[in-house]
Amino acid sequence: MAYITLNKNHFFYNLDIIAKQTKSKDKIALVLKDNAYGHGLLEMAGLAQEWGITKAVVQSDAEAHAITPYFQYILVLADTPQKFSEKIRYTINELNAIEKFPRGTLVELKVNTGMNRNGIEMDELESALEKIEQQGLILEGMLTHHGCADELGDVYQQQKDNFAKIKAKAPQGLRFHSCNSAALFRDDDFNEDMARVGIAAYGCMDLPEEIKSVELKPVLSVFADRLSSRVLPKGSCIGYGGTACLEQESVVSNYNFGYGDGFLRICSGVFTTFEGVKIAGRISMDNSSFFSDKERLCIFKDARDVSSTAQTISYEVLTSLKPGLKREIV
Ligand SMILES: *Cc1c(COP(=O)(O)O)cnc(C)c1O
Repeated sequence: MAYITLNKNHFFYNLDIIAKQTKSKDKIALVLKDNAYGHGLLEMAGLAQEWGITKAVVQSDAEAHAITPYFQYILVLADTPQKFSEKIRYTINELNAIEKFPRGTLVELKVNTGMNRNGIEMDELESALEKIEQQGLILEGMLTHHGCADELGDVYQQQKDNFAKIKAKAPQGLRFHSCNSAALFRDDDFNEDMARVGIAAYGCMDLPEEIKSVELKPVLSVFADRLSSRVLPKGSCIGYGGTACLEQESVVSNYNFGYGDGFLRICSGVFTTFEGVKIAGRISMDNSSFFSDKERLCIFKDARDVSSTAQTISYEVLTSLKPGLKREIV
Protein backbone atom coordinates (compact mmCIF):
# COMPACT_ATOMS: atom_id res chain seq x y z
CA MET A 1 0.00 0.00 0.00
CA ALA A 2 1.13 3.53 -0.72
CA TYR A 3 1.97 5.74 2.22
CA ILE A 4 1.62 9.32 3.32
CA THR A 5 4.21 11.62 4.82
CA LEU A 6 3.23 14.66 6.86
CA ASN A 7 5.70 17.53 6.85
CA LYS A 8 5.73 18.99 10.36
CA ASN A 9 7.84 22.03 9.38
CA HIS A 10 5.40 22.93 6.64
CA PHE A 11 2.44 22.59 8.98
CA PHE A 12 4.07 24.79 11.62
CA TYR A 13 5.06 27.31 8.92
CA ASN A 14 1.42 27.53 7.79
CA LEU A 15 0.19 27.92 11.37
CA ASP A 16 2.69 30.78 11.92
CA ILE A 17 1.25 32.58 8.90
CA ILE A 18 -2.34 31.91 9.97
CA ALA A 19 -1.59 33.23 13.47
CA LYS A 20 -0.35 36.50 11.95
CA GLN A 21 -3.70 36.84 10.21
CA THR A 22 -5.80 36.02 13.31
CA LYS A 23 -3.36 38.06 15.45
CA SER A 24 -3.53 35.35 18.10
CA LYS A 25 -2.80 31.64 18.41
CA ASP A 26 -5.87 31.21 20.56
CA LYS A 27 -8.19 32.42 17.82
CA ILE A 28 -7.28 29.57 15.49
CA ALA A 29 -9.75 26.69 15.51
CA LEU A 30 -8.16 23.99 13.38
CA VAL A 31 -10.69 22.12 11.26
CA LEU A 32 -9.98 18.40 11.65
CA LYS A 33 -13.11 16.95 10.03
CA ASP A 34 -12.85 14.06 7.58
CA ASN A 35 -9.78 12.53 9.15
CA ALA A 36 -8.11 15.97 9.18
CA TYR A 37 -8.66 16.38 5.43
CA GLY A 38 -7.14 12.94 4.90
CA HIS A 39 -3.99 13.78 6.85
CA GLY A 40 -4.93 11.61 9.86
CA LEU A 41 -7.01 12.88 12.79
CA LEU A 42 -4.75 11.90 15.68
CA GLU A 43 -1.52 12.68 13.83
CA MET A 44 -2.67 16.24 13.11
CA ALA A 45 -4.25 16.68 16.55
CA GLY A 46 -0.90 15.79 18.12
CA LEU A 47 1.06 18.18 15.91
CA ALA A 48 -1.48 20.96 16.44
CA GLN A 49 -1.20 20.57 20.20
CA GLU A 50 2.59 20.64 19.97
CA TRP A 51 2.47 23.95 18.09
CA GLY A 52 0.02 25.43 20.60
CA ILE A 53 -3.41 25.12 19.00
CA THR A 54 -6.12 24.89 21.67
CA LYS A 55 -9.27 24.75 19.53
CA ALA A 56 -10.58 22.28 16.96
CA VAL A 57 -13.60 21.83 14.71
CA VAL A 58 -14.95 18.44 13.61
CA GLN A 59 -18.05 17.03 11.97
CA SER A 60 -19.11 14.29 14.37
CA ASP A 61 -19.38 13.58 18.06
CA ALA A 62 -17.13 10.52 17.68
CA GLU A 63 -14.34 12.63 16.13
CA ALA A 64 -14.71 15.15 18.96
CA HIS A 65 -14.37 12.53 21.70
CA ALA A 66 -11.33 11.02 19.98
CA ILE A 67 -9.44 14.32 20.28
CA THR A 68 -10.52 15.63 23.71
CA PRO A 69 -7.05 15.00 25.20
CA TYR A 70 -5.48 17.42 22.70
CA PHE A 71 -7.70 20.52 22.89
CA GLN A 72 -9.51 22.84 25.31
CA TYR A 73 -12.40 23.58 22.95
CA ILE A 74 -13.98 21.41 20.25
CA LEU A 75 -16.86 22.43 18.01
CA VAL A 76 -18.98 19.71 16.40
CA LEU A 77 -20.53 20.93 13.14
CA ALA A 78 -23.24 18.36 12.53
CA ASP A 79 -24.06 15.90 15.30
CA THR A 80 -25.71 15.50 18.69
CA PRO A 81 -23.96 14.37 21.90
CA GLN A 82 -23.76 10.69 22.78
CA LYS A 83 -21.93 11.44 25.99
CA PHE A 84 -21.06 14.61 27.84
CA SER A 85 -17.72 16.39 27.70
CA GLU A 86 -17.24 19.91 29.03
CA LYS A 87 -14.87 20.54 26.11
CA ILE A 88 -17.37 19.90 23.32
CA ARG A 89 -19.87 22.35 21.78
CA TYR A 90 -22.52 21.44 19.22
CA THR A 91 -23.78 23.45 16.26
CA ILE A 92 -27.50 24.15 15.89
CA ASN A 93 -28.15 23.98 12.14
CA GLU A 94 -31.88 24.75 12.11
CA LEU A 95 -34.66 25.91 14.41
CA ASN A 96 -36.22 22.45 14.70
CA ALA A 97 -32.90 20.90 15.73
CA ILE A 98 -32.92 22.69 19.08
CA GLU A 99 -35.16 20.06 20.69
CA LYS A 100 -32.68 17.28 19.77
CA PHE A 101 -30.11 18.49 22.29
CA PRO A 102 -30.30 17.39 25.92
CA ARG A 103 -30.63 20.01 28.65
CA GLY A 104 -27.27 21.48 29.61
CA THR A 105 -25.61 20.93 26.21
CA LEU A 106 -23.11 23.63 25.19
CA VAL A 107 -24.27 24.92 21.82
CA GLU A 108 -23.43 27.45 19.13
CA LEU A 109 -26.10 28.81 16.82
CA LYS A 110 -25.46 28.83 13.09
CA VAL A 111 -27.12 31.52 11.00
CA ASN A 112 -27.79 31.38 7.28
CA THR A 113 -26.38 34.64 5.94
CA GLY A 114 -26.66 33.72 2.27
CA MET A 115 -25.08 30.36 1.55
CA ASN A 116 -28.49 28.71 2.02
CA ARG A 117 -27.11 25.45 3.31
CA ASN A 118 -27.24 25.34 7.12
CA GLY A 119 -28.32 27.66 9.92
CA ILE A 120 -31.45 29.39 11.15
CA GLU A 121 -32.79 32.18 8.95
CA MET A 122 -31.88 35.75 9.88
CA ASP A 123 -35.45 36.51 11.05
CA GLU A 124 -35.57 33.44 13.28
CA LEU A 125 -33.04 34.74 15.80
CA GLU A 126 -35.55 35.69 18.47
CA SER A 127 -37.46 32.41 18.33
CA ALA A 128 -34.19 30.47 18.32
CA LEU A 129 -32.97 32.25 21.46
CA GLU A 130 -36.31 31.56 23.15
CA LYS A 131 -36.28 27.87 22.21
CA ILE A 132 -32.68 27.47 23.36
CA GLU A 133 -33.64 28.94 26.72
CA GLN A 134 -36.73 26.71 27.03
CA GLN A 135 -34.68 23.64 26.16
CA GLY A 136 -32.14 24.56 28.85
CA LEU A 137 -29.18 24.71 26.46
CA ILE A 138 -26.13 26.83 27.13
CA LEU A 139 -25.53 29.16 24.19
CA GLU A 140 -21.87 30.10 23.84
CA GLY A 141 -21.47 31.31 20.30
CA MET A 142 -22.89 32.23 16.94
CA LEU A 143 -21.45 31.39 13.57
CA THR A 144 -22.07 31.53 9.88
CA HIS A 145 -20.31 30.03 6.87
CA HIS A 146 -19.32 31.68 3.61
CA GLY A 147 -20.34 30.10 0.32
CA CYS A 148 -18.23 32.41 -1.83
CA ALA A 149 -15.17 33.47 0.17
CA ASP A 150 -12.95 32.07 -2.60
CA GLU A 151 -15.01 33.53 -5.46
CA LEU A 152 -15.10 37.02 -6.90
CA GLY A 153 -18.44 38.81 -6.78
CA ASP A 154 -20.67 40.42 -4.16
CA VAL A 155 -21.95 37.44 -2.21
CA TYR A 156 -19.00 37.35 0.18
CA GLN A 157 -19.51 40.97 1.25
CA GLN A 158 -23.29 40.52 1.50
CA GLN A 159 -22.81 37.59 3.86
CA LYS A 160 -20.33 39.62 5.90
CA ASP A 161 -22.84 42.46 6.19
CA ASN A 162 -25.59 40.05 7.18
CA PHE A 163 -23.47 38.54 9.91
CA ALA A 164 -22.70 42.02 11.24
CA LYS A 165 -26.46 42.68 11.46
CA ILE A 166 -27.03 39.45 13.37
CA LYS A 167 -24.17 40.23 15.70
CA ALA A 168 -25.72 43.61 16.52
CA LYS A 169 -29.00 41.91 17.51
CA ALA A 170 -27.47 38.98 19.39
CA PRO A 171 -26.89 38.79 23.14
CA GLN A 172 -23.55 40.17 24.33
CA GLY A 173 -20.67 37.99 25.41
CA LEU A 174 -21.04 35.22 22.84
CA ARG A 175 -18.23 33.90 20.64
CA PHE A 176 -18.72 35.07 17.02
CA HIS A 177 -17.03 33.44 14.05
CA SER A 178 -17.56 33.35 10.30
CA CYS A 179 -14.20 32.85 8.61
CA ASN A 180 -12.93 29.76 6.86
CA SER A 181 -9.43 29.85 5.31
CA ALA A 182 -10.36 31.90 2.25
CA ALA A 183 -12.32 34.49 4.25
CA LEU A 184 -9.51 34.84 6.79
CA PHE A 185 -6.97 35.65 4.08
CA ARG A 186 -9.30 37.68 1.88
CA ASP A 187 -9.35 40.67 4.25
CA ASP A 188 -6.69 41.93 6.60
CA ASP A 189 -9.07 43.30 9.20
CA PHE A 190 -9.88 40.10 11.07
CA ASN A 191 -11.50 41.04 14.38
CA GLU A 192 -13.71 38.07 15.29
CA ASP A 193 -13.29 35.77 18.26
CA MET A 194 -12.18 32.75 16.26
CA ALA A 195 -11.47 31.55 12.71
CA ARG A 196 -12.23 28.02 11.53
CA VAL A 197 -9.21 27.17 9.44
CA GLY A 198 -8.85 23.99 7.40
CA ILE A 199 -7.27 24.01 3.97
CA ALA A 200 -4.83 26.87 4.70
CA ALA A 201 -3.30 24.91 7.57
CA TYR A 202 -2.82 21.95 5.24
CA GLY A 203 -1.16 24.29 2.72
CA CYS A 204 -3.43 23.63 -0.27
CA MET A 205 -5.55 26.77 -0.49
CA ASP A 206 -6.58 27.77 -4.01
CA LEU A 207 -7.73 31.36 -4.44
CA PRO A 208 -8.33 33.29 -7.67
CA GLU A 209 -5.40 35.59 -8.52
CA GLU A 210 -7.51 38.70 -7.97
CA ILE A 211 -7.95 37.77 -4.32
CA LYS A 212 -4.76 38.46 -2.43
CA SER A 213 -2.99 35.16 -1.98
CA VAL A 214 -0.37 33.92 0.40
CA GLU A 215 2.39 31.34 0.08
CA LEU A 216 1.62 28.28 2.15
CA LYS A 217 3.35 24.90 2.10
CA PRO A 218 1.53 21.62 1.43
CA VAL A 219 1.82 19.29 4.42
CA LEU A 220 0.91 15.96 2.83
CA SER A 221 2.77 13.87 0.25
CA VAL A 222 1.86 10.47 -1.18
CA PHE A 223 4.52 7.91 -2.06
CA ALA A 224 4.07 4.54 -3.74
CA ASP A 225 6.39 1.55 -3.93
CA ARG A 226 7.25 -0.34 -7.10
CA LEU A 227 5.60 -3.74 -7.33
CA SER A 228 7.09 -4.84 -10.65
CA SER A 229 8.78 -3.49 -13.78
CA ARG A 230 8.97 -4.61 -17.39
CA VAL A 231 10.47 -3.47 -20.67
CA LEU A 232 7.64 -3.47 -23.20
CA PRO A 233 8.07 -3.44 -26.96
CA LYS A 234 6.50 -0.86 -29.24
CA GLY A 235 2.78 -1.59 -29.74
CA SER A 236 2.19 -3.07 -26.24
CA CYS A 237 -0.97 -1.85 -24.52
CA ILE A 238 -1.03 -1.43 -20.75
CA GLY A 239 -3.59 -2.18 -18.05
CA TYR A 240 -7.38 -2.56 -18.02
CA GLY A 241 -8.87 -1.84 -21.41
CA GLY A 242 -5.39 -1.61 -22.91
CA THR A 243 -5.87 2.13 -23.25
CA ALA A 244 -2.18 3.12 -23.33
CA CYS A 245 -0.36 1.66 -26.35
CA LEU A 246 3.35 2.26 -26.76
CA GLU A 247 4.81 4.16 -29.70
CA GLN A 248 8.27 2.98 -28.72
CA GLU A 249 9.89 0.44 -26.43
CA SER A 250 9.41 1.63 -22.84
CA VAL A 251 10.06 0.75 -19.24
CA VAL A 252 6.83 0.59 -17.29
CA SER A 253 6.45 -0.16 -13.58
CA ASN A 254 3.42 -0.78 -11.46
CA TYR A 255 3.06 1.05 -8.12
CA ASN A 256 0.88 0.31 -5.12
CA PHE A 257 -1.47 3.30 -5.22
CA GLY A 258 -4.90 2.86 -6.81
CA TYR A 259 -8.40 4.27 -6.66
CA GLY A 260 -9.13 2.03 -3.66
CA ASP A 261 -6.48 4.03 -1.79
CA GLY A 262 -7.87 7.35 -2.97
CA PHE A 263 -6.18 7.99 -6.34
CA LEU A 264 -8.96 9.66 -8.35
CA ARG A 265 -9.58 7.35 -11.28
CA ILE A 266 -10.31 10.25 -13.60
CA CYS A 267 -6.53 10.84 -13.59
CA SER A 268 -6.10 7.65 -15.65
CA GLY A 269 -4.00 8.22 -18.76
CA VAL A 270 -3.48 11.94 -18.13
CA PHE A 271 -1.70 12.46 -14.80
CA THR A 272 1.99 13.40 -14.68
CA THR A 273 3.87 13.77 -11.40
CA PHE A 274 5.71 17.01 -10.57
CA GLU A 275 8.91 15.12 -11.50
CA GLY A 276 7.53 14.56 -15.00
CA VAL A 277 6.72 10.87 -14.55
CA LYS A 278 3.71 9.98 -16.69
CA ILE A 279 0.95 7.58 -15.79
CA ALA A 280 0.46 4.61 -18.16
CA GLY A 281 -3.17 3.71 -18.84
CA ARG A 282 -5.95 3.23 -16.33
CA ILE A 283 -5.67 3.42 -12.57
CA SER A 284 -6.57 0.04 -10.98
CA MET A 285 -8.08 -0.54 -7.55
CA ASP A 286 -4.81 -1.05 -5.67
CA ASN A 287 -2.20 0.04 -8.18
CA SER A 288 -1.31 2.15 -11.16
CA SER A 289 1.43 2.02 -13.81
CA PHE A 290 3.91 4.75 -14.63
CA PHE A 291 6.69 5.22 -17.18
CA SER A 292 9.40 4.82 -14.59
CA ASP A 293 11.63 2.27 -12.92
CA LYS A 294 12.01 4.12 -9.64
CA GLU A 295 11.79 1.99 -6.52
CA ARG A 296 9.74 4.63 -4.72
CA LEU A 297 7.64 7.12 -6.64
CA CYS A 298 6.34 10.38 -5.20
CA ILE A 299 2.81 10.57 -6.61
CA PHE A 300 2.32 14.12 -5.34
CA LYS A 301 3.59 16.50 -2.71
CA ASP A 302 0.91 19.07 -3.51
CA ALA A 303 -2.68 17.83 -3.80
CA ARG A 304 -3.34 20.64 -6.27
CA ASP A 305 -1.25 18.76 -8.88
CA VAL A 306 -3.92 16.06 -8.79
CA SER A 307 -6.94 18.34 -8.38
CA SER A 308 -6.03 20.38 -11.44
CA THR A 309 -5.70 17.20 -13.53
CA ALA A 310 -8.95 15.84 -12.14
CA GLN A 311 -10.69 19.22 -12.45
CA THR A 312 -11.70 19.14 -8.85
CA ILE A 313 -10.55 20.79 -5.62
CA SER A 314 -7.66 19.86 -3.34
CA TYR A 315 -10.20 19.08 -0.58
CA GLU A 316 -11.55 16.13 -2.60
CA VAL A 317 -8.10 14.78 -3.45
CA LEU A 318 -7.07 14.89 0.22
CA THR A 319 -10.26 13.51 1.77
CA SER A 320 -10.25 10.65 -0.75
CA LEU A 321 -7.08 9.25 0.86
CA LYS A 322 -8.13 6.22 2.86
CA PRO A 323 -7.64 6.11 6.65
CA GLY A 324 -5.82 2.75 6.25
CA LEU A 325 -2.81 4.31 4.47
CA LYS A 326 0.25 4.52 6.69
CA ARG A 327 1.00 8.07 7.82
CA GLU A 328 4.43 9.15 8.90
CA ILE A 329 5.44 12.51 10.34
CA VAL A 330 8.70 13.78 8.84
C1 LIG B 1 -14.95 22.77 6.44
C2 LIG B 1 -15.39 23.99 7.12
C3 LIG B 1 -14.48 25.02 7.42
C4 LIG B 1 -13.05 25.02 6.93
O1 LIG B 1 -12.99 25.46 5.60
P1 LIG B 1 -11.56 25.67 4.88
O2 LIG B 1 -11.94 26.25 3.56
O3 LIG B 1 -10.93 24.33 4.76
O4 LIG B 1 -10.78 26.59 5.73
C5 LIG B 1 -14.94 26.08 8.18
N1 LIG B 1 -16.22 26.15 8.61
C6 LIG B 1 -17.13 25.20 8.31
C7 LIG B 1 -18.52 25.33 8.79
C8 LIG B 1 -16.75 24.09 7.54
O5 LIG B 1 -17.67 23.16 7.23
